[in-house]
Amino acid sequence: MLKEYCQSCGRVINNPGGWGTEADGSLNHDFCRKCYVDGWFTEPRLTRWQIISRIVPLWMKEKNLTYREALIEANYFISGLRRWQTTKMWT
Ligand SMILES: [Zn+2]
Repeated sequence: MLKEYCQSCGRVINNPGGWGTEADGSLNHDFCRKCYVDGWFTEPRLTRWQIISRIVPLWMKEKNLTYREALIEANYFISGLRRWQTTKMWT
């Protein structure tokens, strides 16, 4: 089964309750509940590099990477997520 990631923070979404919500209460299938609630980003000023700097220490532990390896992988991964691919839609 294909893994679904939050397109903002990269977290894996394991169940429908993990998705964010729109203003009308429907689920948003792009972003997780931590990132997106009631039609808004919870941290609208968040930058790509802030997300990356949160992931790097986690991946160093989980995947047993060096700082440099984790930084390169996290940058590649986060740059592919929809929130960060374009500056037009969600800035
Ligand atoms: Zn998220």
